[in-house]
Amino acid sequence: VLATRLRTPMGPLAFFSAITTFGTPLDITVASLRVEHQFAADAQTLAAMRELARQGAAQGPVRDWHAHVYYDPAATRDTAQRLREQLGERFDVRLGRWHDVPVGPHTAAMYQVVFRVDQFADVVPFLMLERRGLSVLVHPNTGAPRDDHLVHASWLGEPLPLKADVLPVREP
Ligand code: ZN
Repeated sequence: VLATRLRTPMGPLAFFSAITTFGTPLDITVASLRVEHQFAADAQTLAAMRELARQGAAQGPVRDWHAHVYYDPAATRDTAQRLREQLGERFDVRLGRWHDVPVGPHTAAMYQVVFRVDQFADVVPFLMLERRGLSVLVHPNTGAPRDDHLVHASWLGEPLPLKADVLPVREP
């Protein structure tokens, strides 16, 4: 067992490490395999590591989320209006303008809903239950618009085509 002490911006941190040796690995072309684990050696270090893990999980690669609510201006605008009012009443989300004429990669009328990472577990189930037959595109914003819309995205209801060619691979 090896002890390590580090002076860091979070204060002094202490770790100990344990090495596990696997005697005769059968599927690996080395004579033996050693794995070293670092453990927090005191309560302060443990608390600092937990805080770092929490921050990492909260930030992740996703900056925020969009939900695009599609509607037919001639048939389902009222439905989209009711959903929009509910969203505004229940959640601290940013509601985008009505686009009765398709814009950007979108091929149908829609409005956009912007919500934070920590709101995902509330907003997305709400949309699943309350979308009333409307198609909704839920996509993360990671700085890669094309993949965010086409690869990382999730559709609620009937998927609609998107114009891939107007979506940049990387945000400018
Ligand atoms: Zn979007």
